[in-house]
Amino acid sequence: MVVREAVRSGLVGPAQVVSGFVDADGIQESVRDLHRAFGDAPVLHTFAVKAASLVPVLRLLARSGMGCEVASPGELAQAVAAGFPPERIVLDSPAKTHAELAHALELGVAVNADNFAEVDRIGELLAVSESASVLGLRINPQVGAGAIDAMSTASASSKFGVPLRDPGARQRVLDTFAERPWLTRLHVHVGSQGCSLELIGEGVRATFELAEEINAAARRQQVTSLDIGGGLPVNFDDDEIRPTYETYVRRLRAAVPGLLTGRYDLVTEFGRSLVAKNGFTAAVVEYTKDTGGRRIALTHAGAHIATRTVFMPDAWPLRIAVYDRDGRPKYAPERVQDVAGPCCFAGDLVARGRTLPELAPGDLVVLLDTGGYYFSTPWSYNSLARPAVHGFTTHGPAPRFATVRREQTLAEILAESGVDQADALLFGDFGDFGEAGSDAAHARLVPTGD
Ligand SMILES: *Cc1c(COP(=O)(O)O)cnc(C)c1O
Repeated sequence: MVVREAVRSGLVGPAQVVSGFVDADGIQESVRDLHRAFGDAPVLHTFAVKAASLVPVLRLLARSGMGCEVASPGELAQAVAAGFPPERIVLDSPAKTHAELAHALELGVAVNADNFAEVDRIGELLAVSESASVLGLRINPQVGAGAIDAMSTASASSKFGVPLRDPGARQRVLDTFAERPWLTRLHVHVGSQGCSLELIGEGVRATFELAEEINAAARRQQVTSLDIGGGLPVNFDDDEIRPTYETYVRRLRAAVPGLLTGRYDLVTEFGRSLVAKNGFTAAVVEYTKDTGGRRIALTHAGAHIATRTVFMPDAWPLRIAVYDRDGRPKYAPERVQDVAGPCCFAGDLVARGRTLPELAPGDLVVLLDTGGYYFSTPWSYNSLARPAVHGFTTHGPAPRFATVRREQTLAEILAESGVDQADALLFGDFGDFGEAGSDAAHARLVPTGD
């Protein structure tokens, strides 16, 4: 029904060949599920901005009771613009510059240092100015990797945090806290997609035990909060939400019995699990062809939107639903097809050898579960436009839509590719090559894009 209405409203179709869609009701429902699962425990649930770095999405999450986890100056600016107060923002990036740290401390957002050198930098800043920031240290419990290497942050040699099991590291953490009373938080994020709940639970338990050890050594509760990170793996195979937040909390209670007793304030960081199933991407099939025995549908959904799926198809497979040009579910004899995107490289396929109703030009392919890390994280390959994103609600007689992000215009693409500095490389004398590249030629050839 939503796809149908989107086509009718011109949000996707021949004139708008690809768009992202965000289910605003679904996001609120997911946030409610998360809060319900943790019950009365003192928890600040934050949303990892990288999963959906769109200000309207962030504002919806802020108004729904979430805090916000950021990992770059851009994400911090988005969080502030969305209306998260500083005390509900956590800064986590692994390579914070001196200036970024100073800014974060000035704002009063929580900061988790990634390593001892960063702790030192924070110490230097605190020596010259006060800050309301809660300050923590990220540890790597080294509990092992999940099924996707690139998504595993707690392997023995992960780039994140202080490797707790390395020789001498635990003692150095204890010393670091003993010397710096302003360190009051431990942070851990084992990973999410491809990581089992057991692995995540083990990482949280290691963090809890370290906090107990630090506090025992300090003879007071120096560590008052634990940021237990995220995330939760998402089921991309069907519509079921699996595992649920409820299951996650049950496992956490079992793995770390003291965790939810109120002894520590908690922070969580969830991204994908809050948004993946609350969004989809719809794209037009432009052509179909048969090549070397393959049936290929050439669509407008490719690596510029589904980057991970295209480059790591086994780790990030996506379900694809097929609709006709009017946005109705398509019923046609099935056949094995490749679904290709518009990028100019051969591997630009969002599905290979997939059995789907036979696609025809004008049909729509819908990439399901793409509410996180897909249309919100576009890649500007081939100078393809960042797609428009629309939010919708189905409360009411018919779905209602609102623009979350406009499609990038040609004028914007030109501006971001340096059109205002077009002469920048003409260091020498280029003589007279007619008017090629002149402003007059440019004005004739290039549409304004608006
Ligand atoms: C990415 C990230 C998250 C969220 O991960 P999801 O898989 O999107 O849930 C949480 N914490 C940190 C530190 C992260 O980098």
